[in-house]
Amino acid sequence: MENTNEMTLIFDSRPVNEGLARVAAASFLTQLNPTLEEVADVKTAVSEAVTNCIIHGYEGEVHKIQMDLRLRDNDLFVDISDHGIGIEDVEKAMEPLFTSKPDKERSGMGFTFMEAFMDEITVESVMGKGTTVRMRKTIRR
Ligand code: ATP
Ligand code: MG
Repeated sequence: MENTNEMTLIFDSRPVNEGLARVAAASFLTQLNPTLEEVADVKTAVSEAVTNCIIHGYEGEVHKIQMDLRLRDNDLFVDISDHGIGIEDVEKAMEPLFTSKPDKERSGMGFTFMEAFMDEITVESVMGKGTTVRMRKTIRR
């Protein structure tokens, strides 16, 4: 409890705000003295999760996305939530190359990147209620 720090950012699901979320996460993380590579990893994961809320969760409609950031010792926790359409089969959605929008130049690699660049990722989703992606990354020095 003594070694924690938390922040929450709630923003409209507009593509321009993806940059805001990336920079906010990177900026918040600097207190752990991350390497440039670790910062880049977190920014990529945040981008992928926020883009998914915008494109899939809300299908281009403008609603709120929430990003909760928490530091505990050397761990960063990032939760990104929408109240959109939800994911029917999370396990399948997380498979490399799976996309429900192959026509829209999506490659189906978002979750794969999040898994590669973060240490842990779990996805909770309820159809018609929304999706929360929870990620953790340990900053090693
Ligand atoms: P890419 O990320 O490579 O552009 P993609 O977004 O389709 O393609 P993933 O990010 O791996 O690939 O997501 C896989 C699938 O999971 C999506 O095609 C979509 O069907 C579903 N999905 C992901 N995030 C959400 C979300 N927030 N709400 C609803 N569905 C989602
Ligand atoms: Mg994606």
